[in-house]
Amino acid sequence: MADPLLEVTGLYKSFDGATAVDNVSFTVSESETLGIVGESGSGKTTLARCVLRAIDPDQGIVRFRTYDGEWTKLHDKTDDELIPLRQQMQMVFQDPLACLNPAMTVVDAIADPLLIHGLASPAMAREQARQLLERVGLAPAERYQNRLPRQLSGGQQQRVAIARALALEPRVVICDESVSMLDAEVQAEVLSLLRDLQHQLGLAKIFVTHDLSVASGFCHRVIVLDKGRIVEEGPGDRLF
Ligand code: ADP
Ligand code: MG
Repeated sequence: MADPLLEVTGLYKSFDGATAVDNVSFTVSESETLGIVGESGSGKTTLARCVLRAIDPDQGIVRFRTYDGEWTKLHDKTDDELIPLRQQMQMVFQDPLACLNPAMTVVDAIADPLLIHGLASPAMAREQARQLLERVGLAPAERYQNRLPRQLSGGQQQRVAIARALALEPRVVICDESVSMLDAEVQAEVLSLLRDLQHQLGLAKIFVTHDLSVASGFCHRVIVLDKGRIVEEGPGDRLF
């Protein structure tokens, strides 16, 4: 297995005195998928948000290996310093509509992060967005690019959300129940897309789910959370 890209050590987070994440440590490597499994309320989303520093953990260290091979700690960064690091870590949520502006065409939704981060001109961003649309299986791009999110199926919407997350060429993608709302057949299609993209791009993936069977079939390693603690850990196909 390749060297770790992301290392989480001793993470704690509580809300109003109730512990949501309790001393969690793990690593994820390039091209690896780590599953985080647990019942609803076990702390999975809180953990994911602490890793991205969308919320601040109470304790613990998140370290990330940047393109130049340096390890950098996320917790001692200012918001400005976090911007380039956040580009490299993207999240795909359960409900694609929550991250897609209902009034924005899909090509603009995918181009948007490139424009926000000042990484491309509007014309270049649109061209990259069209390529990403095809990459996530919405081809030819002409057929889909000018649709609004509500003019797509749930599976297609999730593909757009994945394309949007990939626009910034992240090295780590966190999928939080990203296929949970989809029918079994569409679920399998989106999982296989994520697997292909991982092979092509060497992505490290954190795959958060309440569904043990999905996790064990799809993840190289799985950690199981209960009340915020890791209660089991092992290879996806050998768990339980
Ligand atoms: P999961 O994603 O596994 O369903 P969560 O991380 O969403 O679990 O929640 C873990 C615990 O933390 C729950 O008890 C939840 O109520 C609590 N919690 C999560 N976010 C907040 C918040 N912003 N404020 C207060 N409590 C929260
Ligand atoms: Mg959750």
